[in-house]
Amino acid sequence: MINNMTVKFSSLSENEAFARNVIASFLLPLDPGVDELSDIKTAVSEAVTNCVVHGYPDRAGEITMTAEIENELLHIKVVDEGVGIENVEEALKPFYTTRLNEERSGMGFAIIKAFTDKMTVLSEPGKGTTVEMFKRLSKAGA
Ligand code: ATP
Ligand code: MG
Repeated sequence: MINNMTVKFSSLSENEAFARNVIASFLLPLDPGVDELSDIKTAVSEAVTNCVVHGYPDRAGEITMTAEIENELLHIKVVDEGVGIENVEEALKPFYTTRLNEERSGMGFAIIKAFTDKMTVLSEPGKGTTVEMFKRLSKAGA
């Protein structure tokens, strides 16, 4: 089965829950496992929170989330057109955060990496950031 969807929403913190629920609804017909679904929702949440907090630090911008499923392979993209990341390699390191004073732990990317099979981050300062996540889903209900 091939299926895909795209949603665009404002970078408001209430849309973090919206994005989690969208991906869950999209995957529901596949009858995903509870743990698997929870991992995917968490990964999406981290990516969207990053757009809200870091991508658009002082204005609301647009976030685009796309998801595509082909057979059991899930591909999610979370895109912002915000400030971008100066040094992606540095940003991917666990505990690295540019917001130490704001109860950020610098674990978002590490969590996405741990909860998916593969994550890639493309970013250009001043242009924005794209986070892609790939995950092979277990067979229905597993
Ligand atoms: P936590 O996720 O634990 O609350 P964090 O958001 O700082 O903390 P990560 O999610 O791992 O940690 O992100 C690491 C750093 O990468 C951020 O501190 C920020 O500097 C940068 N970053 C991440 N996503 C974006 C984004 N969409 N736009 C701009 N910078 C980003
Ligand atoms: Mg984060």
